[in-house]
Amino acid sequence: MSSSQKSFRGRGALGKLEEVLTETSAESVFLVKSPGAYEASGAHLLADQALAKVRTRSFDGFTPNPKWPDILSALDLFRKDPCDLIVAIGGGSAIDIGKLVSFLALQPAAPEAYLKGEEEPSEPVIPLVAIPTTAGSGSEATCFAVAYYEGKKYSVAHEKVLPYCCLVDPALTDELPPLWSACSGLDAFCQAVESMWAVLSTDESVAHAKEAILLALEHLETASRSPTRNARDGMSEAAHLAGKAINISRTTASHALSYTITSNLGVPHGHAVSVTLGAVMAYNYGLAEEDCLDPRGPGHVRTRIEELLELLQAASIEDGRRVIDSIIESTGQPASLEDIGVRSSKDIQVVADGVNAERLGNNPRAFTPESLLEMLQELHARGAGRKD
Ligand SMILES: [Zn+2]
Repeated sequence: MSSSQKSFRGRGALGKLEEVLTETSAESVFLVKSPGAYEASGAHLLADQALAKVRTRSFDGFTPNPKWPDILSALDLFRKDPCDLIVAIGGGSAIDIGKLVSFLALQPAAPEAYLKGEEEPSEPVIPLVAIPTTAGSGSEATCFAVAYYEGKKYSVAHEKVLPYCCLVDPALTDELPPLWSACSGLDAFCQAVESMWAVLSTDESVAHAKEAILLALEHLETASRSPTRNARDGMSEAAHLAGKAINISRTTASHALSYTITSNLGVPHGHAVSVTLGAVMAYNYGLAEEDCLDPRGPGHVRTRIEELLELLQAASIEDGRRVIDSIIESTGQPASLEDIGVRSSKDIQVVADGVNAERLGNNPRAFTPESLLEMLQELHARGAGRKD
């Protein structure tokens, strides 16, 4: 779905918060802030000043990858003392909570029903202003929100979830530690790359994805290793554009495979996605009429992958895989399955079994349990081979 969203981007964008408050005539704000990141990013300096003019109620009682009880406490707090506007400042989790409160606050049925897709929203949403303090998920530009309910990951996808406005200020990412810069930057890069071949991709999403890939190629290593303002600016824009791309196209097999790697081995999301990206690209390039899930046909998908190779300045699929590995390593993270803890054939089976079937359906080439396992085994053997 195409997005119509107000956005202010670039250094100083946070300063627009005051303007947004005036323009929406908000007299009260429900502030969702990441514990820690709100101050560490420096966001509090300008935000506190802007919010001093309105009645503000803050919520920061949540952990990363928000659990359902966290959402319910936020909702409860909001409903006891409703506000005109929600402002979410932080990483992907703060923005997800902001989205869910915005979406659910006025709906009459049990909140779980909307999470599980059993109910459609009948009431309006509370406008949300999303202000990211990382350059990665692009969540400020998407119409989905994630929550963990009884240990299971749910994603609410609805056009009403898209924030009314976002302020993308790269200055808020200046103090991000190297590991976060690397892993969130890898997420942006992977989201843009997967977007290129996604079944739901459109010309518009591909244009955003290409721009995001070029920016990430230029700035990811510097932003991860020895950040400059210019690199931070580039990665903030890359992450936002990758968010716009996947808002339309959604993600594919590498995201589908990443959730188990993250939950079982504690590998940060962006890094977990990146380790299978090259293998998925090669697998997808090998598609044929009988296993092609994209109605535009295998020729279309291959052309998109060739356009991707051109962006990567790679002469072949194999060369493209090497470029992707070197991008991962340039951020200081290992690129092989072995190095992130997927070692035995049993480990590989666990990753294959944990794949998210819904995301897999958006991959242009169909997988069978056998072909998925085979792809992972080849990837694993390749990593071992590179070391010798
Ligand atoms: Zn992601």
